[in-house]
Amino acid sequence: MADLDDLRSAEQPKPAQIVYGKDDPMFKLKWRNHGFGDRHKEGTPEAAPRGRCQRCGQINLRYVHTMECADLPDLIEVGCDCAQILDPSYDAPRAERLMKTRSRRLARWLSLGWQCVVGNQYLNRAGFDYGVVPVAGGWGWWIEGAVSITSKIAYDCPDKARVALFDYADGRNLRGGIAPSLQPVTLVTSLRDIEQVCYEWASGFSWLSDEFYRLDRFTLLGKIGCSVYVNGRSAPYWELCLTLPDQENGSRKHEGPKRTCTTAVEAKIAALDIFRKEMVQMAYKRASVQLEVLLPPITDAERQRITDAHLRAENEQDARRAAEQRAREEAAERRRGEEEQQREIAQQAARAEAARQRREEAAQEAAAKQTLAACRRILAMRPEIAQDLAQRTDDFGSDERAWGEAFQRTKTGSFMQDFTIIRRPEMSLSGRCTVYYKHGDWKIAVFLPFDLVPHWHREGYDCADALAASRVVARSKLAAWTRGVLQPSYDVA
Ligand SMILES: [Zn+2]
Repeated sequence: MADLDDLRSAEQPKPAQIVYGKDDPMFKLKWRNHGFGDRHKEGTPEAAPRGRCQRCGQINLRYVHTMECADLPDLIEVGCDCAQILDPSYDAPRAERLMKTRSRRLARWLSLGWQCVVGNQYLNRAGFDYGVVPVAGGWGWWIEGAVSITSKIAYDCPDKARVALFDYADGRNLRGGIAPSLQPVTLVTSLRDIEQVCYEWASGFSWLSDEFYRLDRFTLLGKIGCSVYVNGRSAPYWELCLTLPDQENGSRKHEGPKRTCTTAVEAKIAALDIFRKEMVQMAYKRASVQLEVLLPPITDAERQRITDAHLRAENEQDARRAAEQRAREEAAERRRGEEEQQREIAQQAARAEAARQRREEAAQEAAAKQTLAACRRILAMRPEIAQDLAQRTDDFGSDERAWGEAFQRTKTGSFMQDFTIIRRPEMSLSGRCTVYYKHGDWKIAVFLPFDLVPHWHREGYDCADALAASRVVARSKLAAWTRGVLQPSYDVA
C-alpha cells in the first residue's frame, strides 16, 4: 500500500513545476512583466531552488522573470527568451544583465566610505547624501539631494537597510557621476532647476573656437546640450542646435524651424528661448499637470546678462590669446637671441681661425726669410760653400741624357724630377722640375727654395721639346737663383 501511495503522490505534479507548454491557449492572451528574480549561485547561503520556464519547459534557470495576465489570477515564471516573447515591451536581457551585475555593484556600494556619527551611517556620493538611521522597530534609510525620500519599512539591521537603500538608488541610477532624471521630482523643483540653468545660461558655454560655442548641462529632467556655431562660408550666419531630455536617460534633438542669427549672442539668446519653453513644458508633462504653459518673453535684463557674459568670455579669451601670443613672441625673441649668440660665437671662432692662419703664414714667411737669411749667413761665413754652389750651377744639367732619364711619369701624366742644388752638412737644398700638359701644350715649371725665382716658364712646347727644353730652363732659373742668393742686391725678377 505504501508503494501505491508513493506512486500516487508521484503522479500528482507539484504546483511549482507545472509546465503548460508553448501551445497552451493561455499564451495567446496579453502578458505583462511583473518582476524578476535571482535564485543566486548554488552553494551560497542565499541560493534558492532553480527556476523552470513554464512556457518552454527549460529547467535549471538561475534568473527568472515573473509574468502577469489580467485575465488570470496566477503569476507564471519564465526564462529570458519567453519573457521577451510574452511581453515584447519588456527588456528581459537588460533586466538579466542588471541582476548579473547587481551583486558586484552591491559589494562596491557596501564598501564605500560610510561614515558613522552617533550611531547613524552617512554616505555622500554623486551629489546625494545617503543615511541609514535607527527608527522605531529597526533601521530606516533616507536620501537627501535634489529630492528627499525616506524608507517606509523598518529593517532589523543596518546592513539590510543599506541593501534596501542600494536597491532603491540602484533602480533609479542615483549612483555614478551624473545627476539623473529623478522620480519623483516635484514640478516646483524642476522649475527652480530650469530657472537656475537659464540664469547661468551664457556663462555655461565653453569656447571651442571663434565659430563654435558649446554648452552641456545635467538638469533634473535629464541631460541637455547646446551648440552655437557659424554656418556658411561666403555669407556667415550663426546657427544653433539644442539637445533636450526625452524619456528617462534619453535625449532628442530639438526639431523646430531653423533659427539663424547675425551674432553669437543672438544665437545664445534664441537657444535660451527654445530651452525655456521646451523644458518648462516637459516639467509640466512629467508632473502630469495638464496645462498649456505661456512664458513671458525674455526680458531686456536677461538679454543684457547674456550679452555681458558673452563679452566677458570673449575678453577673457582675447586676454588668453594675447598672453599666448606674448609667450610665443618672447620665445621667438629668446630663440633669436640664442641664434645671435651662436652666430657671434661662430664669428669669433672664424676670426680666431683667420688670426691663427695669418700668424701661421707670418711664421712661415718669417721662417722662410730666416732660412734664406741663415743660408746667406752661412755662405758669407763659408766662402768655399758659395764657390761650390757657383760651380754646381755652372755644371748643372751638363749631362743631357742623365737629365732626361731622371724624369718620372706621375699619375696625372706629367713628368717630374727632384734635383739637388747643394748637399753639405751645413746646408742641403733641392729643387724640382715639372713638365706638364695644360691649355693645349706642354709647359715647364722649376721650383727653387725660398721662392726667390718665379717658377713658371711662359712658353709652351710639344711634349718631347718641353722635356728637352726643361734642362735649359731649369739651368737658367738656377743661375738666377744662385745670383740672388749670393748677391742679395741682385734683382732676380
Ligand atoms: Zn521558456
